[in-house]
Amino acid sequence: MSNRINVPDIFGSLVFNDEVMHERLPRDVYAELNRLIEEKKPLTFEIAQVVASCMKSWAVEKGATHFTHWFQPMTGITAEKHDSFIKPVGEGRIIMNFSGNELIRSEPDASSFPSGGLRATFEARGYTAWDPTSYAFIKDRTLCIPSIFCSYGGQVLDKKTPLLRSMQALNKQSMKIINLLGNPTGATSVSSYVGGEQEYFLIDRDLYNLRDDLKLTGRTLFGAKPPKGQEMEDHYFGTIKPRVKAFMDDLDVELWKLGIYANTEHNEAAPAQHELAPIFSDCNTATDQNQLTMEIMKTVAIKHNLACLIHEKPFAGVNGSGKHNNWSITTNTGVNVFDPGKAPAENTLFLVFLAAVVKATDEYQDLIRACVSNSANDLRLGGNEAPPAIVSLYLGDELGAVADAIENDEVFEAHEAAVMKSGVKVIPRFDKDTSDRNRTSPFAFTGNKFELRMVGSSASLSTPNVVLNTIVAEELSQFAERLESAADVELAANELVSEVFKEHGRIVFNGNNYSEEWAEEAKKRGLLNLKTTADAMPAYLDEKNISLFEKHKIYTREELESRYEIGLETYCKSIHIEALTMVEMAKRDIAPAVCEYSELIANTINSKRMAVSNMPCRLELELLSTLSKNSDNLSDAIAKLEKDTKKAEKIPDVTAQAEFYRDFIIKDMEELRSYADKLEEVTAKDYWPFPTYTDLLYSVV
Ligand code: ADP
Ligand code: MG
Repeated sequence: MSNRINVPDIFGSLVFNDEVMHERLPRDVYAELNRLIEEKKPLTFEIAQVVASCMKSWAVEKGATHFTHWFQPMTGITAEKHDSFIKPVGEGRIIMNFSGNELIRSEPDASSFPSGGLRATFEARGYTAWDPTSYAFIKDRTLCIPSIFCSYGGQVLDKKTPLLRSMQALNKQSMKIINLLGNPTGATSVSSYVGGEQEYFLIDRDLYNLRDDLKLTGRTLFGAKPPKGQEMEDHYFGTIKPRVKAFMDDLDVELWKLGIYANTEHNEAAPAQHELAPIFSDCNTATDQNQLTMEIMKTVAIKHNLACLIHEKPFAGVNGSGKHNNWSITTNTGVNVFDPGKAPAENTLFLVFLAAVVKATDEYQDLIRACVSNSANDLRLGGNEAPPAIVSLYLGDELGAVADAIENDEVFEAHEAAVMKSGVKVIPRFDKDTSDRNRTSPFAFTGNKFELRMVGSSASLSTPNVVLNTIVAEELSQFAERLESAADVELAANELVSEVFKEHGRIVFNGNNYSEEWAEEAKKRGLLNLKTTADAMPAYLDEKNISLFEKHKIYTREELESRYEIGLETYCKSIHIEALTMVEMAKRDIAPAVCEYSELIANTINSKRMAVSNMPCRLELELLSTLSKNSDNLSDAIAKLEKDTKKAEKIPDVTAQAEFYRDFIIKDMEELRSYADKLEEVTAKDYWPFPTYTDLLYSVV
């Protein structure tokens, strides 16, 4: 547990962390617990019993009355079912108790969680089991025990189990390579580390409450473009507004209490958009903490009469929100295998791991795209604000030059770090980084880690990291097999790296990913461009990917089929709810408002002409005709969307259904929105039934 940060206890820690365990557990139990975790062995009942009793006393002292196994079903959010510590012991006496058994496992009736066909509803049993590698914490007077979740038959029903498995697979394969290359630091394990930067919007809660689309779907389904969007670029890194600052301060306190060290906060590109970056930790902890962060953001926002929008694309026409998954692999002796050091071209360990990422990204583009897909993220990827749906890898100038030299069997000449000259004499000179950043790349090398920028803001970090860990583990296992039989490992490793760069160099792209030329070029290179979730999800059923996951014991074929099914079902359901919300808002809010306003205009024309016959009334006539034309179109578009959603509901096969939503419903929705937005542009503000984009984006000061 030593590799996790213990947040300074400034505000009163609510985490049962290493420090607390060290202080409270009997010495031998503490040592044994750490040994078992370090050696990745199961805990004994005796240890669990002592830990449970100690955890309970600590939690009760902190005001907790209940406990829950806190788990992550395939809905992508967290689940909890609270039990109290109270136990009757006869003769009217009650004690506060929490047993080792209760700590280790629980059996929630979990038949309503999605299982993607893994379990019939009558087979209601699901088990949660304590994950001792993630700290327990107190939230809402409840001791939350991070847990995995599986069915009676042993099938995995959650997002944590596969992540833990993928970390094991990566550990196993990485250690093979590290040992083959001499293991100079004597490492015995590796872990993948993740820092998940979280983007979000903050808007006024009173305005939020006036919009059903935000309340029901998390995004605006209507809304004319405001006169000012993000073109002035005056929000990015701008001064933080007092109300937002108060929210951020409060959020920090709540997160720090939970051991989540929020590190940087700044304004993002779009108005009302912000970002939070935590200090990175092992990818299991980072995933748990990101789930909690999203939840706490929403509850703290309520206290400030704000609404925190974590949707990938709350507003059309301004940037959406992502979650940057910064990912690295580090040994328990502190060696980050992605640290190129001073001479990357001679750093064999670094080059072999880099080659593994290059090959993995190329061979599993489809999986990388699939693991970040949902209907909301489809609205963001490729919208010239976020990376395109085409997966590629950015290495930067210096590493790119190393890769080129290797690919062409040339000697790499390192550049001296250039000195930055500002042209102002009093400003000290400083060394520039050896390569610039590339904000347009979907997957970028950033000095000593890789940053996957395609992940959507609302998504769990679990699945993307399952994929990264597993695909890289697979390449490392292939490399290890080859190096194991080599007479000269160092030489064989260099040959291997050179071969990988030659064969998979097409996945490396250092230019502007937003440009149309790249889409063309990527096509020539034979890279995939899977534009929607419906196009991307079939990757889960691809035989190549099924064997990958089965080989490393991450998912069975059945478990992959269930994830495919749930992914597409969720895609269909989300779009369906959006469609119904649009129809309702159009019929019950927009149509009456427009009729009323049209009546006003018509009456104006009539009364003006009554007063003075032959009054031209050009303004009113023009307006009335625009209102009338767009209302008619609106009416047709409502009818079409209603008809098509009924059709969609009846399609039994989930693949065909998803394709129908992609090909018809989304287009119907766009059409309906276009007429509504035109109507908004010409309808008097007092008559328009909801707050506008200007209201939503510029009201928080
Ligand atoms: P940026 O330049 O993108 O702002 P930062 O250095 O601020 O990058 O880091 C962004 C995120 O990456 C933070 O959450 C940080 O904790 C995380 N991070 C930094 N180093 C690593 C690493 N070695 N492995 C994983 N995440 C890391
Ligand atoms: Mg970043």
